[in-house]
Amino acid sequence: MIELDRAKLLAARYRAATDRPYFASAVYALSIVPSRGLRTMGVDRHWRCYVSPDFVAALTVPELAGVWIHEVSHLLRDHHGRAGRLPAAEQRDRLRINIAQDCEINDDLVADRLTLPAGRIEPGVFGLPNGLLFEAYLSRLPADLTEVDCGSGAHGWPAPWEVEEGAAPGVGPVEAEALRRHTAEAMRAHRRARGHLPAGWQRWAEQVLEPVVDWRRVLAGAVREAVAWAGGAVDYTYRRPSRRTSAMRGVVLPSLRRPLPHVAIVVDTSGSMTDDDLAEALGEVTGVLREVGIRGNRVTVLACDADVHAVSRVTRAEQVTLGGGGGTDMRVGIAAALAAPRPPGVVVVLTDGETPWPDQPQSCRLIAALIGSAPPDPPGWVETVHVTPAEGRAARG
Ligand SMILES: [Zn+2]
Repeated sequence: MIELDRAKLLAARYRAATDRPYFASAVYALSIVPSRGLRTMGVDRHWRCYVSPDFVAALTVPELAGVWIHEVSHLLRDHHGRAGRLPAAEQRDRLRINIAQDCEINDDLVADRLTLPAGRIEPGVFGLPNGLLFEAYLSRLPADLTEVDCGSGAHGWPAPWEVEEGAAPGVGPVEAEALRRHTAEAMRAHRRARGHLPAGWQRWAEQVLEPVVDWRRVLAGAVREAVAWAGGAVDYTYRRPSRRTSAMRGVVLPSLRRPLPHVAIVVDTSGSMTDDDLAEALGEVTGVLREVGIRGNRVTVLACDADVHAVSRVTRAEQVTLGGGGGTDMRVGIAAALAAPRPPGVVVVLTDGETPWPDQPQSCRLIAALIGSAPPDPPGWVETVHVTPAEGRAARG
């Protein structure tokens, strides 16, 4: 009986983390449990990684590095959580689930040029295309499958070799979610810097960072809440509501007994946004304002790039004429809005985000509706809503 070659196992983890730094936090969050109960490596839902000493002895360090990433991929992709949401009949087939999940993971690891042990499971082995989620592979796998077991962290069924919950250090659900987010952010940074990330990981990271929520609901919620705050109906003075709260909040504005606030909409007219995107976002904001009774001369729209080109009061989006291109400084538009004889209680900025922002929190509520696929973030005190036009249109249709 051989001992676990811990040095080799750790060298492989180090290699995985240095070769693919976006996996570093996740692979280092795994705790190691040597076990003779399994033939390879596996994970449970508490991020404990079970390792067969024989398996470690048989593999090269690059292969083991690939297996580290394979195992942590089950956890990053929340395979056990997703397995638990399968229809009951499908949940029972542990082996089929495991193999479908390995298909989902391994095509991306191969595309990432990682080394995996011989005999690895890939969609192509079963004549299936790459790039699907495991739920889609499930029903398309053949009846006859060879035994694999990546543990309850994959298929959700506790394996006989898994230890009790307190018997080894583990990762809780909140920390797991933070690790997913951190990994997704690292992947996005990597893709921006190097331009390369396998398609499956790219989709996964986008989904983690920007879950598909209809931006209209979020924007409408943010505007309603800001209007309520500015009207004095809600005492939110020092509390910026979270994006999630805005999204979940009901759609009914509490009846306002105080005067309705003035609202300024500052529109970025610089190069990178299309008229359609702007018109849609602007239409959404003015629509919400109309619903809550803010219209006419209570709404001011300013078209802004480096200078404020035009100031117009509108009641309909179609009345807005967008100004010229050029450099963007939305601070100019915000300052112009606040300099009005009746300063707005709410300023909504529609922009691609490529702009400096004011230094200090303003005397009004500031909402940034960021248009585009990867806009830079405004300062934390600005309420931010991501407007993703293509997705939004698809969701609406
Ligand atoms: Zn696996």
